[in-house]
Amino acid sequence: MSKRCAIYPGTFDPFTLGHLDIVERACRIFDEVIITIATNARKKPLFSVEERIDLIHDAVRRFPSVRAESFGGLLVDFARQKSAVAIIRGLRAISDFEFEFQMALMNRRLQKDITTVFLMPNEKYTYLNSTIVKEVAEFGGDISNFVTPEVARRLRDKFK
Ligand code: ADP
Repeated sequence: MSKRCAIYPGTFDPFTLGHLDIVERACRIFDEVIITIATNARKKPLFSVEERIDLIHDAVRRFPSVRAESFGGLLVDFARQKSAVAIIRGLRAISDFEFEFQMALMNRRLQKDITTVFLMPNEKYTYLNSTIVKEVAEFGGDISNFVTPEVARRLRDKFK
């Protein structure tokens, strides 16, 4: 049987333990998971694409079936290129739902063979997002419960 590959798209600026929780869950379902960094985001990211890929690779070292890549076009095209069968998204709260629902339906219209799979993280990560982590780090707060030690170190360097 061919390998079942899923892509997990996002900005990951930076990668958090909430993202890692979703990756771990995805690994139990799929043979291969490609974390896909969207490079066409309108927001100006704090970390470059290369920095984000390095930080993700450091965070997922213990998962040999996971890797990170960047992509600038339409997500469903990238998924097709990789022969992925699914798009993984994390659902934290009802507030995520409307946007995620729209995007999943649009992606299904664009490419009917790719299924969006929503995974819920451990409750302790439901309030966590990259923006909050950056804000706490900027003002010198402790972020060690939210990100890997390497991400924490690189965030401290950014705000020195
Ligand atoms: P965005 O797509 O808004 O840039 P991110 O790059 O932060 O968001 O996240 C990518 C994906 O990871 C999204 O599906 C998002 O819902 C999910 N995600 C982000 N933070 C968490 C978290 N703390 N727990 C679970 N899923 C999360």
